[in-house]
Amino acid sequence: MVDKKMMLIDPHIHMTSRTTDDLVKLNKAGVVAIIEPAFWLGQPRTTVGSFQDYFSSLIGWERFRAGQFGIRHYCAIGLNAKEANNEALAEEVMELIPLYACKEGVVAIGEIGLDDQTALEEKYYRRQLDIAKELDMVVNVHTPHRDKKQGTIRSMEICIEHGIDPNKVIIDHNNEETAKEVLDRGFWAAFTIYPKTKMGNERMIEILKTYGTDHIMVDSSADWGCSDVLSVYKTSQLMLERGVPIEQVRQVCYQNALTAYGQSGKMKEEDWTHPSEVDDRALFQGNSVLRGQTSGLDYISDSNVVT
Ligand SMILES: [Zn+2]
Repeated sequence: MVDKKMMLIDPHIHMTSRTTDDLVKLNKAGVVAIIEPAFWLGQPRTTVGSFQDYFSSLIGWERFRAGQFGIRHYCAIGLNAKEANNEALAEEVMELIPLYACKEGVVAIGEIGLDDQTALEEKYYRRQLDIAKELDMVVNVHTPHRDKKQGTIRSMEICIEHGIDPNKVIIDHNNEETAKEVLDRGFWAAFTIYPKTKMGNERMIEILKTYGTDHIMVDSSADWGCSDVLSVYKTSQLMLERGVPIEQVRQVCYQNALTAYGQSGKMKEEDWTHPSEVDDRALFQGNSVLRGQTSGLDYISDSNVVT
């Protein structure tokens, strides 16, 4: 039975690659807050200005746009693993990270970590861990698609080497192979539910049966690739259908993300339980989200996207 009133958080989603229709779907599904980690846009950037504009959009326009559709938007700022392999550019991006990390709505350094597990990826992962430590920030760690177990263990060992508290680190994109290692070491384990690859939501239920709900969270990582913005919602519904107690569903699809990222002091439940009213005529640097229609809120109430 669908519980439409359940509040959900998607702690890893790339709305930059998504449309306003997706924000409407999330809103209708009960997603009250989202976290958008900085990532690779699919095509390597060639100048530091592209990073600057991207980071600015995460703390600016994207935050505003989500808010206009009733969703509180937070982000993580970081240099992704893939683009860490361009050393000259990576050096310039390092200068930007501390400036953006301190802005409103930035709840973590991320997503950072290893992908092909190159020396340059490790170098800039370490540099950003040092920034996180200095600023006492939460960290979101992307784990590799290939040699996942080895890369995940290595990522955690490097955190420990840098004196980072595991309770401030969310290790993302886990599966059955990595869950135990991550939880045993006291890190947060996030599971990305993809429609085709990595974790599916049936497997997620087995994970809960094996490991319980402590330090575990579910996300969609929805981006420009094959992904589903409603992954957290659909997983929560499947869990309820399969008899997972609602309190456990709430923990992995809401509370744990809030507890982990709430350590930033910039993400609080009252942000969405007592939000300031949405003025859909509001402007962000001279622009509204309206494209001809008179009201964005009418768009939500009239839409039949999610049943
Ligand atoms: Zn991502």
